[in-house]
Amino acid sequence: MSPDRRTLLRAGLGVTAAFASGAHMNTPIHANPNDGPRLKGELSHDGTVRAAAADDFGRIVHKPPRAVLRPAESEDIATLMRWAAERGLKVAARGQGHSTYGRALTDGVVVDMREFNRIGDVKADRIVVEAGATWQSVLDATLARGLTPPVLTNYLGLSVGGTIAIGGIGGMSSRHGMQADHVFELSAVTGDGRELTCSATENSDLFDAIRAGLGQCGIITRASLRLVRAPERVRRYQLFYRDLASLTTDQRRALAAKRFDQLQGAILPDGSGGWRYQLEGAIFYNGDTAPDESTALADLADDRGKAVIADLSYREDALAFAKFENLLRSKGQWSIPQPWLFTFLRGSNAEQMAREIMGGLSNADVGPFGRITWYPMQTEAFRAPLVRLPDESVVFPFNVIRIPSDTDAASTARMVAANRALYDRVRKAGGMLYPVSAFAMSPDDWREHFGPRWPLLRDARRRYDPHNLLTPGYNLFQGQA
Ligand SMILES: Cc1cc2nc3c(=O)[nH]c(=O)nc-3n(C[C@H](O)[C@H](O)[C@H](O)COP(=O)(O)OP(=O)(O)OC[C@H]3O[C@@H](n4cnc5c(N)ncnc54)[C@H](O)[C@@H]3O)c2cc1C
Repeated sequence: MSPDRRTLLRAGLGVTAAFASGAHMNTPIHANPNDGPRLKGELSHDGTVRAAAADDFGRIVHKPPRAVLRPAESEDIATLMRWAAERGLKVAARGQGHSTYGRALTDGVVVDMREFNRIGDVKADRIVVEAGATWQSVLDATLARGLTPPVLTNYLGLSVGGTIAIGGIGGMSSRHGMQADHVFELSAVTGDGRELTCSATENSDLFDAIRAGLGQCGIITRASLRLVRAPERVRRYQLFYRDLASLTTDQRRALAAKRFDQLQGAILPDGSGGWRYQLEGAIFYNGDTAPDESTALADLADDRGKAVIADLSYREDALAFAKFENLLRSKGQWSIPQPWLFTFLRGSNAEQMAREIMGGLSNADVGPFGRITWYPMQTEAFRAPLVRLPDESVVFPFNVIRIPSDTDAASTARMVAANRALYDRVRKAGGMLYPVSAFAMSPDDWREHFGPRWPLLRDARRRYDPHNLLTPGYNLFQGQA
């Protein structure tokens, strides 16, 4: 990063200030013998670098790019975009590569954002970060000042740009919506090679099309993120139920009465063909005095003898997924095909849908370490226009986290096909996709998915990516793939 950019970021200035010069607009593009524009960063054609960008966490789609850009500054991305447009090459940003179906892959140029990860100064209500920063590094910086982003994903090894591009859901979403709802301002390089700042009041059409817009209009380079006071401690309760009905009844009661600060849950394989039903609630507190849990736990129908209760610092709790990651890594289960499916069911028919779908799922469909995420969530805090949820006040994430024992290509293909069939059932019943799922979508599918919001995305795409370059992995627009 140039000294000027570093100074501006450290000063915690708004994204606008960081782009005040506008000098990049005149950067000449020179083809050179190595097939690339003139850049401060590196456009690599190296086979190892390209191979590392040819797969993602899902390990289902494989597509080597022609080159990988490691930008030193956002001007590099703008220059690359104009150079790619002249050659008809597609461009996709890659954050931490945790997509599951090739959404950050392209046979054109991948922009590797991992080192575009500077963290600015923490202000009382915000922080400016580069989009390749992970949520863990953001949290570490903000906790030093007793602050936190209002919504953290369950896994913090994801990039800020990668989750804002899809929404970013976590344990606090019921209260605070998605990460995309807590952005003051974004800087982005659009598909026509412009560097623009956008917010609710400046280039608001781009702001609306970039948050949860699946990378179709621009590559996010910098984000000004909202911060709130972090609780010091978390008491976490895992409560186990005999069946789906009793779990769901208690989850709904807990949600309605706001008994927990975080409410999630899961249906877990029991290893002998059956399922375990788990409510996961967390209460935040400060100081040494533990929270009064009598109200939160009153009259719940769980098997209290099996309850697991943990008392953790807020940071330990936020990083708890890392233990699961380590477990999967130690069992060789992290780097296998992961055909995951993420959906939202309507609150009004969620139990019926879940019962019907569960009737056709076996333990083998998710594997011993897999699970089905299942909990009710209030939708009132969700505002980013391209986040699609069923139009009801309560919806249920229903996510089939498949970490299968059978990892041969035929089994994976069967699971991808099963995801498609499940999605069709969910959609017919008024449910929605969370677009990080492992199966192919056609442009018609996407038009139906975005429904009344489709014109917003389509028109922004025409304005900001007229050459149809960006993020082909979703197959959102005709001729994109
Ligand atoms: C173990 C695991 C846990 C997860 N937990 C959660 C969770 O709790 N909550 C949740 O919401 N999701 C979760 N996900 C899904 C995850 O949020 C998405 O897959 C996310 O897109 C991954 O972020 P990434 O940085 O790895 O992005 P990548 O996979 O690198 O990219 C994802 C998409 O965003 C685009 N993109 C990346 N960076 C930018 C940028 N700077 N500007 C514009 N577009 C960009 C890419 O082109 C691609 O289309 C999880 C996934 C895994 C594998």
